[in-house]
Amino acid sequence: MDHADQIARLCLQQYNSFGKGGAKPRIRQDGRYEWTVLAGIVLSVQSEWHCIALATGVKALPFSHLSKHGDLLHDSHAEVLARRAARHWLLQRLLDENDDLISSHLKGIPRIFVRNDNRFGLIEDAHLHLYCSTLPCGDLSSSLIADEKHDNEAPSPTVLRGRTMSSSTQTHIRTKPGRPDAEPSISMSCSDKIAHWTLMGIQGALLYGIIGKVSLQSYVIGNQAFPDQADALEKCQKMLRRKCGNGPIPQIAFATLPFLHSRESVQEDLLNHKPDACVSGPSDERDLVPSANSLVWCLGAKPQGIVEGHRQGAALRRSAGEPLRQSSRSTFCKLDWFRFVCDAKKRLDMQLTPNATYSECKEAITEYRNHKDLLRGLSGINSLDRPAYQQQSINAFLGQQSFPSPSLIDSEAPFAGWLVSSHSLEQFNHNGHEIVQ
Ligand SMILES: [Zn+2]
Repeated sequence: MDHADQIARLCLQQYNSFGKGGAKPRIRQDGRYEWTVLAGIVLSVQSEWHCIALATGVKALPFSHLSKHGDLLHDSHAEVLARRAARHWLLQRLLDENDDLISSHLKGIPRIFVRNDNRFGLIEDAHLHLYCSTLPCGDLSSSLIADEKHDNEAPSPTVLRGRTMSSSTQTHIRTKPGRPDAEPSISMSCSDKIAHWTLMGIQGALLYGIIGKVSLQSYVIGNQAFPDQADALEKCQKMLRRKCGNGPIPQIAFATLPFLHSRESVQEDLLNHKPDACVSGPSDERDLVPSANSLVWCLGAKPQGIVEGHRQGAALRRSAGEPLRQSSRSTFCKLDWFRFVCDAKKRLDMQLTPNATYSECKEAITEYRNHKDLLRGLSGINSLDRPAYQQQSINAFLGQQSFPSPSLIDSEAPFAGWLVSSHSLEQFNHNGHEIVQ
């Protein structure tokens, strides 16, 4: 693909334009060097290219840290945050275009939305491209990492924990990798999420109700770790194809430009300074450690530093039943996204269900929900029985209960076994108050 380096360059330049410090990787006081992953989303329209969202990060919260108020970012991997920031920008952009129906360019970018009946949509000429400085965690990287450890299979028929390798040929989905001795995250791997976005779009349920499906046209990966590009490319395409079936998949390409704070770049820097440093394996953190922070940004806003799902340096006290204060939350957390969508719908004269919870508003986008249920093999389960099924799946994954009977779901569905916390963790209203049904 001609534009791989162009897409990477825009993201890298944007990253470099943010000052040093803040949430960027650093050398710790104990002498350990931090690294991270960078992801960005680039918009191409009428032969113009603009980076609209950017994020770094390699951390996800363990299950016991998740919030019922929607006020924390549960998954702070770079790709996931970049996607959240991109959809925020898209909605802001729609509002800007709707407020100014005359100008052909707004804020230096050509118009990208048209009105389709009672909804909006991207013009044919507008496309989104995902850049990531390395392969996403999960199947896409596992298939290419030669020294991957072969652990025992997880007990679930379909969900594997982190880097556990599958010995069968069945397509599995897996959760985010983490230290084997740490409490697990129930967030699904970025490989699975990217495959899911390929089929469902990157916009999520609420924005689907406003602008329909937004697909990724291409997927650009930094190739520092994989010198045999052709082989890596073929494996990536195969893996995505296996998860996505015969539908369209983004064009995959490798970029040649290095990312300053990638594991490989930081390792090289470290070895130049300390030739005897220990950098041998993914879990060896004596001298080289993944950064605990994330940075997230969308065009037109200031970059935010994130740690453990909230703003860096923010006050973390919650009053009883209340969410974190707005200044402690990321603009991209579920609660702020929900508030933004409700506000946007008012400004766009679109129908709103007053006092509905975040979960109810998502469920109300039936076309999107039905498609998602089909992909997760849930169509055969009565909607009233789903919360119990989902809770049992999470409990079983955490080793607290047996797995629900595989016969309940369509185990051939590409994302059968996907862990969702929507019933227990998305019952909050636009004030962040949990509504107990
Ligand atoms: Zn990831």
